[in-house]
Amino acid sequence: MDAPAPKKRGKNLKNPRQAKANWQYTVADVIDLYDLKADRPVKTWVKNGLPVVRSLDMRFWGNDLNAFHKARRKETKSACPWHAVNCPVCKNRHSLYEEPFCIECLPNGRHSAVVRCPESPRGFAWKIIKDDDLPLVKALLASKDPSDKED
Ligand SMILES: [Zn+2]
Repeated sequence: MDAPAPKKRGKNLKNPRQAKANWQYTVADVIDLYDLKADRPVKTWVKNGLPVVRSLDMRFWGNDLNAFHKARRKETKSACPWHAVNCPVCKNRHSLYEEPFCIECLPNGRHSAVVRCPESPRGFAWKIIKDDDLPLVKALLASKDPSDKED
């Protein structure tokens, strides 16, 4: 294990069963546990929602660590770029570049992109558009030929 491994996606993901559920871990323990080089990743995890046991020195519950890393894995696995929609109908990912789509305003002030599934005439795929991505999605929609609309 001395040769540098090639960089690959997800290499920073930690084993979600690494920590002992009922143990408390200090930052130093966590660095040890996941073979980290410094405490920086731990601070990032805390910023991203890893719960800290309330005490003067930072401590973490093992089951919190495990749950956190499990959630991160799931997130990475399902990460979907702004211009794609995961389709519940055909289980594929549809690109907003390729498929006709529309933007819907939701009652809560958010927006969703709706794509008609090319595999199933009655199926729709949709997703909530992140506020940061909304200008991109709107620009993409505007760049499409208006005569391209379905119907
Ligand atoms: Zn589909």
